[in-house]
Amino acid sequence: MGGQACSFSRGVVMPELPEVETVRRGLLPLVGKRILSLELTRPNLRFPFPLDMDSISGRKIEGIDRRAKYILIRLEGNLTWLCHLGMTGRFGNKPEGKHDHVLVDFFDGTRLVYTDPRRFGIMDLFEGRYNHKLLNNLGPEPLGSDWNGGHLHDSLRGRNVSIKSALLDQHIVVGIGNIYASEILFRAGISPKRKAKNISKPMSERIYQQTLEVLKTAIEAGGSTLSDGQFKNVDGDLGYFPHEFAVYDRENENCVSFGCGGLVKRIVQSGRSTFYCSKCQK
Ligand SMILES: [Zn+2]
Repeated sequence: MGGQACSFSRGVVMPELPEVETVRRGLLPLVGKRILSLELTRPNLRFPFPLDMDSISGRKIEGIDRRAKYILIRLEGNLTWLCHLGMTGRFGNKPEGKHDHVLVDFFDGTRLVYTDPRRFGIMDLFEGRYNHKLLNNLGPEPLGSDWNGGHLHDSLRGRNVSIKSALLDQHIVVGIGNIYASEILFRAGISPKRKAKNISKPMSERIYQQTLEVLKTAIEAGGSTLSDGQFKNVDGDLGYFPHEFAVYDRENENCVSFGCGGLVKRIVQSGRSTFYCSKCQK
């Protein structure tokens, strides 16, 4: 086949919160299993593996949580195995080839294989639950109880960046990337070019409500992905499916709003594509 160039012809699409949550749910059958052994096929992903990575061997998996786009595998003995999928990371239950970098064998004979062609993934080990440098400065979870339209409005106050860029800022809210930021703003009827400081309280409320709606729908649909099925769940099947987007990646296609008649536009903001309808979004 065409190799990587082919897989990424539509540009790199990073997994966002719904995709990572789908992966987390796909990993839940591992809870209760005891790790027999670990094999690393290289010394690093984005960063070197921790020197004590092999200390996961012999431990039971007690739970699997998520914070932002980090998967947190809770191990016996108050140890947490932190995983970030980067751009192309995925978990499966059998080896796939040269991009397999982490292979875990369980006492029950099953396996967990981490595959990552681009190697932007991150793995680390730490004691405790959330006391890791990558987790310390993260903003609120969009689906958590400590975030709402009022909090969003407060965090946008006085900010001169576009609302699109603000939604990608992980200090404001975590887990929203390029795809869902476009979708949320389309559904909220708000232009991605509007300055964050000019987002009113009712607008913040609409963005908040549409964030919940868009993320929950995507999680229910099993997340969204490239059409080549780049991500796989632990059963080796597609973990989530190409998702129908209203605006994302639909440049020059008809706006889906009934009676609009406009075309979806693509602009570049902070080096990244934004898709929107200038008739529906003000
Ligand atoms: Zn429209």
